[in-house]
Amino acid sequence: MNISHIEHLGIAVKSLEQAIPYYEQILGLKCYAIEEVADQKVKTAFFKAGQTKIELLEPTGPESTIAKFIEKRGEGIHHIAFAVDNLQKSLDEVAEKGVQLIDKAPRGGAEGLEIAFLHPKSTIGVLTELCQDPKNNAE
Ligand code: ZN
Repeated sequence: MNISHIEHLGIAVKSLEQAIPYYEQILGLKCYAIEEVADQKVKTAFFKAGQTKIELLEPTGPESTIAKFIEKRGEGIHHIAFAVDNLQKSLDEVAEKGVQLIDKAPRGGAEGLEIAFLHPKSTIGVLTELCQDPKNNAE
């Protein structure tokens, strides 16, 4: 697997409306996109800190995994996302090394990225996302 950088940090929040002003007014970052990802039942807000993004995740329903996360662990860092140059190959590689996968194949995430999650049971407690920008296909 070839990780080029931390693509984003996913942060679970109860309310984008309450969280965005902290990032904009205190940290001085600019929210450049708000996007609802219906199949994940979340609304996302994006900021850029250098080439790393911050992705705020607000649940859109009580059955959202983000709602369950907040219920169990409170608001805070939800996952770390690494950019890789070949997502399917990376997934196959880590699966071969015994890592449990949540997604065995890439699926569509926010911002047009191909994404897949590794299971936190296999990643020392940190939900880990691998993602690939289809525009940067190394093949
Ligand atoms: Zn993410």
